[in-house]
Amino acid sequence: MNVEVVTIGDELLLGFTVDTNAAHLARELAAAGIGVARRATVGDEPAQVAAAVMEALDRTGAVITTGGLGPTSDDLTKPSIAALFGRAMKFDEAIWEELKIRWKSYRWPGGIPESNKQQAMIPEGAVILKNRHGSAPGIWLEDERSPMPRWVAMLPGVPREMRGMLADELLPRLRALTTGTPNVIVSRTLRTIGIGESALADLLGPLAKGPKGLPLAYLPSVEGTDLRLTSRNASAADAAHALDAGAAELRAVLGAYVYAEDKTDLAAVVLGLLRSRGLKLAVAESCTGGMLGARITAIAGSSDVMLGGVIAYAEEVKESQLGVSAGTLRGYGAVSEETAREMAAGVCARFGAEVGVGITGIAGPGGGTPEKPVGTVCLAVSSGGAVRSTKVQMIGDRDEIRRRSAQAALNMVRRALSETS
Ligand code: AMP
Ligand code: MG
Repeated sequence: MNVEVVTIGDELLLGFTVDTNAAHLARELAAAGIGVARRATVGDEPAQVAAAVMEALDRTGAVITTGGLGPTSDDLTKPSIAALFGRAMKFDEAIWEELKIRWKSYRWPGGIPESNKQQAMIPEGAVILKNRHGSAPGIWLEDERSPMPRWVAMLPGVPREMRGMLADELLPRLRALTTGTPNVIVSRTLRTIGIGESALADLLGPLAKGPKGLPLAYLPSVEGTDLRLTSRNASAADAAHALDAGAAELRAVLGAYVYAEDKTDLAAVVLGLLRSRGLKLAVAESCTGGMLGARITAIAGSSDVMLGGVIAYAEEVKESQLGVSAGTLRGYGAVSEETAREMAAGVCARFGAEVGVGITGIAGPGGGTPEKPVGTVCLAVSSGGAVRSTKVQMIGDRDEIRRRSAQAALNMVRRALSETS
């Protein structure tokens, strides 16, 4: 089964509100084996709503809307959609009684406002989707004159109410409509680092479009490139089997570029490696200003591995707190592999850690030179007495350069540990 989603609200078109409803709907529907064929967003304008829903009905026959069910005058979803089905609006006494009871519990002086009466206006022949999380009821409207399925489900805009009504009322209804073993849409993500999108495709060769007929999406970000495999139109068991096999084929080619699956953070992977070897970690950060420490300590249970860190931003601090030599700073500069190496070794010595990280770079926008342009970052890892270092040219703005640096440092620790295991 496929549906289309129409989200309604001027605030969405203006960009003041991010359309989280459409994303939530897509995820929940996929898990129930229902695809979202298309998405549209329109303003609080009856003609726009009617046009978008009409087009979607003609294409797909199944439409879910969110928003525009409130009591205020900008909320005109119901009448404009009812008109498409040739239905008049009628006042529903039972809904009005329920609304009055709900308002009593709010203890609002003067009782329920008159304008809430609009929420009790329902298209003729509609099914009410109960709202246990707010006041506006949802509506299910079906065109029984049509030989093909033709329906619209209207959900509230408030995300919490929308999610509740979807789970309580709409998903059970949709599951009942889909016959036989329910097919699902499931994804599996392989997280890669240290290789770009196009190089990944080259490396994958004949698998670049996806193994076993499963489409493969390339999702680059500052954390690396995620590869997402998606199975559609299979039972949950068949999908899990196909994804296992597909992921194994990709892993066989990609090797150590893959650091985790699904949502696992690289920091958690690194902590796991350190923990399994009984090693303690300390970090010395300049341009990342504590971002690496934050990434590591964001993982619950990091305290058994992470000793601490130094934000060594000024040269004096690199010297006095980490023991970077004045000669190194003068001879090679604060942004140099030599300085990064002494930062990593220094933080290890001061904290009594087996593994230490040093990061120093130019995050910009100022401070670049022809020899060391903005984005120049030197990383070092001290582990088992040996220090390795690298100089990288990061792309992006200040924030991206800093985030990429923390991620690259984590990957360096991962590689150092994997190679010495
Ligand atoms: P409405 O039901 O249209 O009155 O929407 C109520 C509130 O829900 C709006 O003020 C928005 O803050 C929020 N909202 C509406 N639509 C969405 C959406 N698609 N995604 C996230 N929030 C929304
Ligand atoms: Mg609205």
